[in-house]
Amino acid sequence: MNHEQTIRSAVETSGVGLHSGAPVKLRILPAAAGTGVVFRRVDLDGFEVEAVGRNVARVSYATSLMKKGVLISTTEHLLSAFTGMGVDNAIVELDNLELPILDGSAQPYVEMIRAAGLKRQRRLRSYLRLRKEVEVREGDKFIAVYPAQEYSVAYSINFPHPLIGKETFEVKLSAESYCREIAAARTFGFRHEEQAMRNMGLIRGASSESCIVLTRDGLENGPLRYPDEFVRHKVLDLIGDLALLGRRLLGRVVADRAGHALHTALVSRILRDHSLWEEAASEEVASPAGEGPEKRVGTAPAVP
Ligand SMILES: [Zn+2]
Repeated sequence: MNHEQTIRSAVETSGVGLHSGAPVKLRILPAAAGTGVVFRRVDLDGFEVEAVGRNVARVSYATSLMKKGVLISTTEHLLSAFTGMGVDNAIVELDNLELPILDGSAQPYVEMIRAAGLKRQRRLRSYLRLRKEVEVREGDKFIAVYPAQEYSVAYSINFPHPLIGKETFEVKLSAESYCREIAAARTFGFRHEEQAMRNMGLIRGASSESCIVLTRDGLENGPLRYPDEFVRHKVLDLIGDLALLGRRLLGRVVADRAGHALHTALVSRILRDHSLWEEAASEEVASPAGEGPEKRVGTAPAVP
């Protein structure tokens, strides 16, 4: 897992955007090592928007990227699947402004990536390793990342609803844990907020096939995929938003009642201050005295 990866062959899907309701075709293509994830608007002469922090646009119910006025909306579920599956490099073509919501989780994207197959590339992965803790607080919302040798996430939410209440979920990220514990968790919405949100144009593409619909005291379209599916989806979103760091994170992320705005604020804080982190290259180093090879993460020279 120390080498960069892309997919082996192109894969595609189609659907509607959750917020815009716009129909969209999406195609994922292999990309060269060092590319990162690049969105390409095929309806706008192939204009490209890189999935990195400097392109983060307005963020409320979803994370959007914007470059020179060109929007790519609701990037978090696909980017989450890429991080979860270990895809470093990909071109994502779409013919509209928003990614399809599909079933409201990252599972369809995981299946597409599986169908395409993973391809290990020659280049060693470069990690973003936290050197100091970074904490962002906003009222009772909180997010932080602490130095660690692995990427892990601990998330807490507290919704006054009989099926949710206080939920906490913690995961050490690997392709296996991501696919088993995170990928299938769907986004959720409350039936009693639907009309107001529709009136604001926020959920034109919503349906009971694309999210968990909660009533005031229950569930309209059960069963849940996990008893604590809600907090798992928050973890899914967070992993997708932190992909905008542009390289894989080494750190322990702790979030409490956060959301896209706070997730991306954390990304900006980290990227703005290079004293908070260092670039680390993964390399296989043979250890002395016949202990066999072991994984070691060493510091690489900083690239301007
Ligand atoms: Zn989401």
